[in-house]
Amino acid sequence: MRILLVEDDALLGDALQAGLRQAGHAVDWVRDGVGADTALMAEDYAAMVLDLGLPRMDGLEVLQRLRRKKNSLPVLILTARDTVDDRIRGLDAGADDYLVKPFDLGELNARLRALLRRAGGQSTPLLAAAGLTLNPATRQVEHQGKPIELSAKEYALLHALMQQPGRALSRAQLEQHLYAWGEEIGSNTVEVYIHHLRRKLGAEAIRTLRGIGYVVPNVRTIESDTPDHETN
Ligand code: CA
Repeated sequence: MRILLVEDDALLGDALQAGLRQAGHAVDWVRDGVGADTALMAEDYAAMVLDLGLPRMDGLEVLQRLRRKKNSLPVLILTARDTVDDRIRGLDAGADDYLVKPFDLGELNARLRALLRRAGGQSTPLLAAAGLTLNPATRQVEHQGKPIELSAKEYALLHALMQQPGRALSRAQLEQHLYAWGEEIGSNTVEVYIHHLRRKLGAEAIRTLRGIGYVVPNVRTIESDTPDHETN
């Protein structure tokens, strides 16, 4: 998923960007509040990781401006100010969750997974649709119970589509999910990844809606208690 990271500390920002990328996200990193405000107007993110103490515009103000625009983007705030008041102010300003510095990268990624899950209306950690299951924690994908090996971009594309099964995403929206600033986008890369995914998952796993985009059909995966009639 595409994440906006807002952090003015170079060392911490660097570590966060690396950690988020390792978790499979496309990451845009800005170092002040005005940059965050501009990025939020220009791009479509899945979530924002927002430091509160920032130059040019405070993180709290970035958050308040976002919510005034009725933007419900999941926001996780980072704060060095280990006071209850700051956390309360952040949550009241519209943050969905917070972490107090110093924190563990594993915990940050787990909290982000939970935020993305709730934003996608999923109550369980596993995404399931059309005979597919995707585990955002382990990044494992299974098709009809069989593990499937996917490249990082194939996984990111499938994750975006499975976040809300039945909802079509256009090529432009998928590109938004897949690429951070500075990453080169080939002219037909989304089509190429879709082609690869269909080869691995079967043609019916991802449907093309002509003129609209791509969709993973909203069909529940076969329940595990379904009797298995196959005998070998
Ligand atoms: Ca700071």
